[in-house]
Amino acid sequence: MEWVFENLSFTFEPLKTEAYLMNNNNTISDKTIKSLKSLLSSPKRILLTTHKSPDGDAIGSSLALYLYLKSMGHDVTVSVPDDMPGFLKWMPGSDDILIFAKHKKSFEEKLNNAEIVFALDYNHFKRTGNEMEKLLTSSNALKIMIDHHQSPDDFMKYRVWDVMASSTAQLVWDFIVALSGKKAVDKIIGECLYTGIMTDTGSFRFTTCTAHTLRITADLLELGVRGDLIHQRVYDQNSLNRIHLMGYALEKIVLMPEYYTAYISLSKEELKKFNYQPGDTEGLVNKVLSVKGVNVAALITEKENQVRMSLRSVGDFSVNQFSRTYFNGGGHEHAAGGILEMNLDEALMYFEEAVKKGYK
Ligand code: 5GP
Ligand code: MN
Repeated sequence: MEWVFENLSFTFEPLKTEAYLMNNNNTISDKTIKSLKSLLSSPKRILLTTHKSPDGDAIGSSLALYLYLKSMGHDVTVSVPDDMPGFLKWMPGSDDILIFAKHKKSFEEKLNNAEIVFALDYNHFKRTGNEMEKLLTSSNALKIMIDHHQSPDDFMKYRVWDVMASSTAQLVWDFIVALSGKKAVDKIIGECLYTGIMTDTGSFRFTTCTAHTLRITADLLELGVRGDLIHQRVYDQNSLNRIHLMGYALEKIVLMPEYYTAYISLSKEELKKFNYQPGDTEGLVNKVLSVKGVNVAALITEKENQVRMSLRSVGDFSVNQFSRTYFNGGGHEHAAGGILEMNLDEALMYFEEAVKKGYK
């Protein structure tokens, strides 16, 4: 294979670096803290929800909040639209999670009964999938959002929102500390928060990983959280099928050298061949991005009746904007996703056209 990028130069100028580095613990206004303290001063029925295909941050932040709110005497349920990856199932409280796709009736009962609904790690109900979106939209419960994605919807009464925050887990730490002080975070809650921060910062290496992020992480280590073991559980428990799928997929990288872009596509049949399980393609798109000269990377995966786009970038190409414009999606500047309602072949052609139009 010929590596056509060898002689090209490109910059690694990160976006908004100073703002990221200056980011401090001031994401929740005093007024919001006061209102939330008073709201949560008596026991409430609370439902915590996350986005579809929940990742380490969605599960870590919601379980941390679940354990904290339970310790305050509330009646709390965590629900996710669909199942989580096996590498998160060791997490404290994960057995208690209600999976909407498997238990729709129980979810509806919990929702109808809930006084407060939290949206964690997402900011628009459509991120929970069509069916759950409808139910959440029509619910009369008071809605609170804790999130770090761009362009939030306005469904919520309160929000703890900071697009500069490394992770929703970091915002949950800020939330708990603002309401009850650091003493409210124990080792078990700490393990959940650590997992969210670690997974969303690419193991503490992304621009969003600030001094504040690392100070929180240091506090978690002082509680006895074992970062080394959490890293092993999340990243070093792969099935052989998953590793084989990774190898197969990496052989399939398609380069678009004029556009500093590369992508992998995976069809349903290909995934089936490797006995695909939720989470098996996590991290794959970052490997595509790691190819020298590549500034934009995509993983294009065929699902039932639609195609999922997972996008990453370095430098000043905003995949959030790209995803909003072409893939009915969004996310962050350097990590975003979306959905195309077409078959895989059409999606691949559409993607290549979008790159040509979008890459200026
Ligand atoms: P991933 O590629 O890991 O699935 O997602 C990367 C980022 O983009 C995550 O922060 C995720 O929340 C966001 N994202 C993924 N898919 C979608 C989507 O369909 N819509 C929106 N708005 N954001 C998405
Ligand atoms: Mn997140």
